[in-house]
Amino acid sequence: MSLFGGKKSDKKNESFPFALSDAEWKERLSPEAYNVLRHEATERAFTSPLNDEKRKGIFHCAGCGWELFSSEHKFDSGTGWPSFWQPIGGEAVGTSIDRKLFVARTEVHCAHCGGHQGHVFEDGPDPTGLRYCINGIALKFMLAGG
Ligand SMILES: [Zn+2]
Repeated sequence: MSLFGGKKSDKKNESFPFALSDAEWKERLSPEAYNVLRHEATERAFTSPLNDEKRKGIFHCAGCGWELFSSEHKFDSGTGWPSFWQPIGGEAVGTSIDRKLFVARTEVHCAHCGGHQGHVFEDGPDPTGLRYCINGIALKFMLAGG
């Protein structure tokens, strides 16, 4: 059992159920979303309207529509990015090791298309103690029952 759940992988060599060419991704996404989802960019803190989204609903991958997070697991982390203490299910996200910074971080991506979502840290609230720190631009919010 992996601490973070989901599939741990060397993302670069993994194939995902939903796969598009780079040109197709560029056409499908806004430049900002493309940079985050496909090139692991990070949006500026406090820029996403989803940071303050408190209504009931589901957060889908902005790349492929896969269900990733639920409002039930969202909390206000004060970081400026939408934060969740767990994904919506065991198959929602995968993780990989991100060594871009001096300290290795755990990268989080959509399990369906591999789109980068953010990182997961171990300073979250109960009951998991995890903090999924997600780029709002990589998510699409759908109101419950809507
Ligand atoms: Zn996706």
